[in-house]
Amino acid sequence: MKILVTGGAGFLGSHLCEKLLQNGDEILCVDNLFTGTRQNILHLLSNPNFEFMRHDVTFPLYVEIDEIYNLACPASPIHYQFDPVQTTKTSVMGAINMLGLAKRTKAKILQASTSEVYGDPEIHPQIESYRGCVNPIGIRACYDEGKRCAETLFFDYQRQHNVNIKVMRIFNTYGPRMHPNDGRVVSNFIIQALKGEDITIYGDGSQSRSFCYVDDLIDGMIALMNSKDGFYGPINIGNPNEFSILELAQNILELTKSKSKLIFKPLPQDDPKQRKPDISLAKKELNFEPKTELKEGLLKTIQYFKKTLDL
Ligand code: NAD
Ligand code: UDP
Ligand code: UDP
Repeated sequence: MKILVTGGAGFLGSHLCEKLLQNGDEILCVDNLFTGTRQNILHLLSNPNFEFMRHDVTFPLYVEIDEIYNLACPASPIHYQFDPVQTTKTSVMGAINMLGLAKRTKAKILQASTSEVYGDPEIHPQIESYRGCVNPIGIRACYDEGKRCAETLFFDYQRQHNVNIKVMRIFNTYGPRMHPNDGRVVSNFIIQALKGEDITIYGDGSQSRSFCYVDDLIDGMIALMNSKDGFYGPINIGNPNEFSILELAQNILELTKSKSKLIFKPLPQDDPKQRKPDISLAKKELNFEPKTELKEGLLKTIQYFKKTLDL
């Protein structure tokens, strides 16, 4: 099987490439290295089944492949807000190009969508049939609306051109190879704790997120790609164990034995107050069940940052 992974040099993409190589597949990793790094895939470059191509998915790509995992898109608010027009282009034009490629080659294609399609949700936990509450003109819209439009394109290519699609709504995921400067809460708090710097809580820290360890997420992603024909999603994948941001900070302080102080900063605009996946569909269709408890996953992530940042 020849598999294309777009965004393959990023956090999730590099773990996905690694896992697919273990299954004996041939991988073409396409990435423009905007937020991804060569370092993330350095250990894969010597594998004869792995090929890296520097390419921006907003431009057409003509290759011959059997499956496509479309992950290319900056994922953290700091990175996707850095060049918001490029973020929307990546989601929308990237989806059109990859769907065009899937249509021509008859490849199966999986879209890495996001819980952000639910925006600042009014129902809790979020179920796939919920249509979301997104501010279309806010600072998160380039990402949220880009991903929503990509989902539309996926379902229209399915209906109009019979493309075999799989749409996955990913909830907050953490683990080794998160970008140290991307401002996401888990990497920020761990690095601050290890350096003895103040822990920056935005707002009062009562907002919640449900954190999934990367290995569990990748298992769910591959299970979705291999799910029964005619099952398209959208499907939530994540860990439903919900924590307030304050609880996350306390866990990280305890695990790092850090003496860092908590400081409170303004809450960014449109920051969702709560987020938790309803994963009953994933349990039923994919037999999906996240296995890694928060503390166990945090310990592995702490070890990674200690080693790579020499802390
Ligand atoms: P990441 O930023 O580490 O990875 C994204 C990768 O895409 C990077 O390697 C980047 O260089 C590449 N990229 C960006 N624009 C590109 C372009 N125009 N052409 C080619 N490559 C491009 O982020 P991640 O956390 O690994 O996220 C991967 C995917 O999963 C994204 O689509 C993201 O929206 C989705 N997702 C992630 C999370 C999460 O918690 N990590 C949650 C929801 C959805
Ligand atoms: N495309 C691509 N690789 C392919 C086939 C198509 O990148 O192997 C791109 C191409 O740029 C095209 C887009 O995908 O504009 C959508 O393709 P589709 O066939 O749906 O539309 P059309 O070619 O008619 O624009
Ligand atoms: N957050 C925080 N301090 C930080 C970084 C983030 O309190 O240093 C908060 C942020 O406001 C949000 C939550 O943590 O409420 C998760 O933020 P992240 O950027 O990781 O992901 P997202 O908001 O996209 O879920």
